[in-house]
Amino acid sequence: MTLQQRITQLHHQAFTVDAHFDLCYEVANMRERGDKKVIEKTFLNQFRAGSFDLIVSAIFVHNYFLPEMGLRKALDQISHLHAEIDESPGLFRICRTCKEARQAKEDGEIALFLSLEGADPLQNDPGLLRIFYELGVRGLGLVWSRRNAVGDGAFFASQREGQKGGLTPFGIDLIEQAERLGMFIDVSHLNDEGFLDVMNVAQKPLIASHSNCRALARTMRNLTDDQIKSLAAKGGVIGMNSVDAFVHDDAKKATMDDFVNHVDHIANLVGIDHVGIGFDICCGFPNHLSMPDNVEATDLISDHGHLEEFTEQLIRHGYSDEDIMKVLGDNFMRVYSETTG
Ligand SMILES: [Zn+2]
Repeated sequence: MTLQQRITQLHHQAFTVDAHFDLCYEVANMRERGDKKVIEKTFLNQFRAGSFDLIVSAIFVHNYFLPEMGLRKALDQISHLHAEIDESPGLFRICRTCKEARQAKEDGEIALFLSLEGADPLQNDPGLLRIFYELGVRGLGLVWSRRNAVGDGAFFASQREGQKGGLTPFGIDLIEQAERLGMFIDVSHLNDEGFLDVMNVAQKPLIASHSNCRALARTMRNLTDDQIKSLAAKGGVIGMNSVDAFVHDDAKKATMDDFVNHVDHIANLVGIDHVGIGFDICCGFPNHLSMPDNVEATDLISDHGHLEEFTEQLIRHGYSDEDIMKVLGDNFMRVYSETTG
């Protein structure tokens, strides 16, 4: 079997998941400029070329709108996604469980999970978590790289700041509530103090949807070895982020080989059951939020259609077909089914 045949076969067999893509945010931005059928025209061919089955679609609110417009902007993003589904029937659907996601694949549609990238739209109202759950949101990213009512985010690079804090009482309440409701908790973007607090409160497996290893690239957005071990001890999964600034200390030198070194590092530390995809493809969008601190960044995986480059590198690093299937989606599906039912 040639390398290409093996990649094609793997992509055909796998249930492939991207645990973090700012789809709701990008779609809303484009629709507010007057575009329609954004997913069908811009993303669908890429999702299909990469044989993605489930895209976890983040609701993200720009700093500019916070705090007053956070709730409104989050609701708008969900509303825009529904409009997209109405305009492009039979192509993709919002799912709430793994069973629904697998059914979507059976029916030839791409499954979307809704996830909050930062609990900012809730402001400090714990009752709103239930409302977002009822709207189909299943992922709760606690913070983005800024402070909110839950806790402090991890910055992309060091900057002037006051003392850092861990989770607030509101943050602890949200974690307990999310686990009761059946949502999965995402610690990407959380600072180290908050991370430790989450580990003490959370009972169920949780994820870092788009974070790499700090041992290989020193940004605070990446996880320390101790953090990787404690996530794995809870049965969690870490999504590999293809933004070069999170792959290599000298971002411009980052290669696909360097990227898959992060997979190796986690696999050596805690096993391959804790690695997935959270490519965080974002840098190519005209309205992409520029990184704070003027961090320059490029996506090593330029769009979802380029999944082959990642799979090829996994093969070159010696992973078995079974391991690769886990990384492509089985690991994240395990956590999603243990949390959302
Ligand atoms: Zn992010």
